[in-house]
Amino acid sequence: MAPSADILLTNAKVFTSDESNPRAEAVATKGNRIVYVGTNEGARTFQGKSTRAIDGLGRTLTAGFIDSHVHLLSGAMWMGHAELREVKTREELKAILLDFANHNKTDEWVGGRGIRYNIVSTRQELDEIISDRPIYIGAFDGHTAWANTRALEMAGILQDNKREMANGIIVRDEHGLATGELREGDAMSAVFELIPAPDSNRKRELLKLAIHKFNQTGITSVHNMNGDMEELMAYAALEDAGEMSLRIYVPFHVLPGAKEEDLKEAAEMATVQMDYVRGGAAKFFMDGVWESYTAFNLHPYADDPDVKVEPIFSLEQFTRMATLCDNLGLQIAVHCCGDAAVRQTLDGYEAIQRSNGRRDSRHRIEHIEVCQPEDMPRFQELGVIASMQASHAPLSREDDLVWTSRTGPQRWHLAFPWRSLKNAGAHLALGSDWTVAPFDPMVNIHFALNRKKYSPENPDQRLTLEECILGYTRDAAYVEFKENEKGQIKEGYLADLVLFSHDLFEVKPEEIRSARAVLTMMDGRIVFE
Ligand SMILES: [Zn+2]
Repeated sequence: MAPSADILLTNAKVFTSDESNPRAEAVATKGNRIVYVGTNEGARTFQGKSTRAIDGLGRTLTAGFIDSHVHLLSGAMWMGHAELREVKTREELKAILLDFANHNKTDEWVGGRGIRYNIVSTRQELDEIISDRPIYIGAFDGHTAWANTRALEMAGILQDNKREMANGIIVRDEHGLATGELREGDAMSAVFELIPAPDSNRKRELLKLAIHKFNQTGITSVHNMNGDMEELMAYAALEDAGEMSLRIYVPFHVLPGAKEEDLKEAAEMATVQMDYVRGGAAKFFMDGVWESYTAFNLHPYADDPDVKVEPIFSLEQFTRMATLCDNLGLQIAVHCCGDAAVRQTLDGYEAIQRSNGRRDSRHRIEHIEVCQPEDMPRFQELGVIASMQASHAPLSREDDLVWTSRTGPQRWHLAFPWRSLKNAGAHLALGSDWTVAPFDPMVNIHFALNRKKYSPENPDQRLTLEECILGYTRDAAYVEFKENEKGQIKEGYLADLVLFSHDLFEVKPEEIRSARAVLTMMDGRIVFE
């Protein structure tokens, strides 16, 4: 006699991500596990008195989506600021900021997030919107921010030229005054750190809100991309309180000046292995981004050949710190947008293998916006994972003239090389990089399916829908060493599932964005319906 299931999903187009049994009609779960995958007929015996039966109505059911690259806590905190992602003109910006300021009269600061480049560039433009309260707005990619004069004065950086910064540029005019543009971490923090952090209750509410929104799009796991013990504990507190509905993998962020003793925290985080929240990884930044001329490139920028970029870590520094992380058994993830950053990180990984020997380390490179052909096979040779975010790629050349003009036609054939890397044998995992891009997997899949060549002679880098789903399920589970637990709809696997509004394979690629999750299960519980 089959056990009676807690939840029985029938009449679904089940895409299992399991090569040995790729398609099915029905899935049964009991507790937090999948107990049956097969036909509607075979599922009947799992129907018991208290079984909840759900009709899949011929729609796609997959394993819960795993977003391999998000910034969850910082993103959640940004949810308390004005949303500027859709802003296209300065007038729209003005309307949103004034509205936000009105609704938040008791807060001194007016914060905004997610703005595109080239909408504002100076403090005076922001002063025209609001001058008596400090304004700080961050770019969508997290690498640049703009502040008004009041904010710069409060930070003491309007005139003061002497502030030492390991990683950041306060852009100044010919009189030495800050223009309002702040590039990279230390420059942005000079202002950002003055904005009062939400209190612990508000923090918890914002985090729960963000997690709920992830569940609404079918995401049941994330690889967080910054972290320390404090952040890990914020997630752990939600799990302890029974309020967590997302599995979160949290690395330790290794800062440029980090010393060996700082890695004690990383080692301690790796010992945290709860049901949903766990450590075990280290994150580095090798460079910045093309948009702000901080991507570490092998050849000059197309639109400003005089820009010289230094990597955030020298090869020696990186290899030394990364080897120590490898000694601790940590997985390493490195942010690399420029081709020189990708190469240097691969060189570092190679050096680690020479000194520590080869192990199943699954070290990873994030983003890979440009990669030289000779570096592509090295991903497979070294067992390095390509962690890529489809919606970072301009959908077409016209869609994002900033990125395409920084890199120039000479590099477009090497741009966001999803297909080329896959063909070269790299293991590809997909993610969003929220808050840099929206976390909705359908938005990312839209880019992966519909991206146009920036020039007719460029290779086609598009992925198939099947590859996208695998990149968000089975292949992402592998990236976090959980391929035997989740990422597939398979008997004995965790009951993390998502039912979509459509049979995704029947939706035209250009309309994939209209599909959405209608039911999400995490650990056998329905967390969104
Ligand atoms: Zn990121």
